[in-house]
Amino acid sequence: MKRMLWKFHGGLHLPGHKTLSNQTPIQAAPLPDFLVFPLRQHIGETAVPVVKVGDKVLKGQVIAKAKGYVSVPVHASSSGTVVAIEARPVPHPSGMFADCIVMQTDGADQWIDLNPVIDYPTLSQSALRNKLREAGIVGLGGAGFPTFIKVNPGSQLPIETLVINGAECEPYITCDDLLMRERSKGIISGIEILQHLVQAKEVLIAIEDNKPEAIRMMQQAASNNTLIRVVPIPTVYPTGGEKQLIRVLTGKEIPSKKLPADIGVICVNPGTAYAIHRAIHHGEPLISRIVTLTGRALTNPGNLETLIGTPVKDLITSAGGETEQIDRLLMGGPMMGIALNTDNIPVIKTTNCLLAAAPDELSTPSTAQPCIRCGDCARACPADLLPQQLYWFARSEEMQQAESYHLFDCIECGCCEAVCPSQIPLVQYYRFAKSDILEAERERLQADKARLRHEAREARVIRLENEHQAKLAEKKARLAKARTSDDSKKDEIAAAIARVKAKKSNQETEP
Ligand code: SF4
Ligand code: SF4
Repeated sequence: MKRMLWKFHGGLHLPGHKTLSNQTPIQAAPLPDFLVFPLRQHIGETAVPVVKVGDKVLKGQVIAKAKGYVSVPVHASSSGTVVAIEARPVPHPSGMFADCIVMQTDGADQWIDLNPVIDYPTLSQSALRNKLREAGIVGLGGAGFPTFIKVNPGSQLPIETLVINGAECEPYITCDDLLMRERSKGIISGIEILQHLVQAKEVLIAIEDNKPEAIRMMQQAASNNTLIRVVPIPTVYPTGGEKQLIRVLTGKEIPSKKLPADIGVICVNPGTAYAIHRAIHHGEPLISRIVTLTGRALTNPGNLETLIGTPVKDLITSAGGETEQIDRLLMGGPMMGIALNTDNIPVIKTTNCLLAAAPDELSTPSTAQPCIRCGDCARACPADLLPQQLYWFARSEEMQQAESYHLFDCIECGCCEAVCPSQIPLVQYYRFAKSDILEAERERLQADKARLRHEAREARVIRLENEHQAKLAEKKARLAKARTSDDSKKDEIAAAIARVKAKKSNQETEP
């Protein structure tokens, strides 16, 4: 029976440009001479190196351990020698540098001893989650949230529905499509592990209807599991947004500032499910991923199985990219990707696509005109926000107002910007406002912490002073008491002497 589907507000029908990269099977990217591993590749704390320069490491070996709860380790993706631990450019819109472990590969690509889990249902839930953590698994479709935390919503939040987000709605990107076509059995095997972990009552694999081959392969692979259902969904951007997809599949809205788990849903990318399968059944940590190389500036676009840490420059070269033909280089798609100002950065766990655009391929930003309050942006917004209001507030730095208009529900999909006749770079304003608010919040928390520390210190000083004074008073009282008792003793002695003297004189006068 066909499943009922819902619609979300707004969204756009965009040219897909998918055939540029989805016509050839996944190929293995060449082994690079050097691999660069940023110590922070996901939301959460930066990992701590456990190797030093000169160390020989094997493929799959932990080279940086997790620090704190929201953190996972980093593994070497090939064998070789650590040649540096230093700040290098990392994938970030600001072009920032961050600490990285750099290794020179030895060409042997030699694995450590792998320890697959023989019978995962016999493990406790927490032991199984820990295996995912040890394997360094994070969400491969979004910001890279550690998966072992995502699959642990707590006993108060029973999970009704596990959603596998195979929508891949952003133009140009085809890595999930190819993965679902070619490795559907492995994905289903990972989904079964996830289902066992979260005990969901149903599993829905959502795939946009512009990927018929992926739908067919996933249906075939899931045919023996009655809990799992493949659901073709209409191709509308951004159906792959977590909130939008859950709305389409279940009709449920996730309230502002809440998570899918709060309404009994967990959403996972097919690439993450596949990585879970490799980790549990083969003992392999997350050391590679499929990256779409696309754009008209490449002569051999396609999807490459790429080692984490591979320099973007090497990948672009292997896809036939000539630097002089590349007008713009993006990590991600044209709507939500980040513009790179260098190719001297590595592929990280969340790198799904590298888009090398030729001149005239992507619309170039032109001079913004004043807002004419046409309302097109509000009609296109899939989060049902008022983008023009958010723009005014961000522009005039009225951040509290922006927050009260649900700025943080903005998924930065770019729909508003794409339809804006005044060509205002709206998303830039939202990003700026969000980072400004978060920074102010961080400063406030730090100031609060400092104030609490200061108050605690003051209280300690006062307490010690009071204790000191109390001790002094006690000592004084003791001395005074001792003095009083000395005086009364003296009186007693004097009285005794007087008594003796009186007795003596009485004796002398008696005949
Ligand atoms: S689409 Fe652009 S011009 Fe129209 S209301 Fe929104 S921001 Fe203003
Ligand atoms: S970028 Fe934000 S405000 Fe603009 S359409 Fe997307 S969700 Fe709405």
